[in-house]
Amino acid sequence: MRKKKTYTCRACGKSPLTKDEVGVSKKLLDGEALFCLPCLAAYLEVAEQDLLDKIEEFKEQGCELFA
Ligand SMILES: [Zn+2]
Repeated sequence: MRKKKTYTCRACGKSPLTKDEVGVSKKLLDGEALFCLPCLAAYLEVAEQDLLDKIEEFKEQGCELFA
């Protein structure tokens, strides 16, 4: 069985992060750091809803990180 990798939020330590959280962190931060949604929103100084919209956008573009 393949071992499932888990990710942890760099700011608050939430673990495991969801696929969406990992994907949007990678997309917006070039894989430099991974955050949960609230921490990413705070880090980027945007609303959580903006990130949710982004996630939907990436999914519509067929981004493989969100497959
Ligand atoms: Zn967090």
